[in-house]
Amino acid sequence: MMGTQMDCEEKQRLLKAYDEASSELSNSVTALRSHQGTTSQAEYEVLYRASRDAHIKAEQARVTFERHKQDHNC
Ligand SMILES: [Zn+2]
Repeated sequence: MMGTQMDCEEKQRLLKAYDEASSELSNSVTALRSHQGTTSQAEYEVLYRASRDAHIKAEQARVTFERHKQDHNC
């Protein structure tokens, strides 16, 4: 029997990567918010960049996951 939809390992892997990227993003946004106004401009800049990178990473992970589902029909 061919692999069923639930069995696609690549899809599971991509979903997990997206999940992780999403939590990273949420953590970095929380860190950014909690430091807003209480930290130096330089430190804030570092946190801001980290959260921006996390946002890009999460977005890319989402696109990769969606694209795989389309290409693979899974
Ligand atoms: Zn797949």
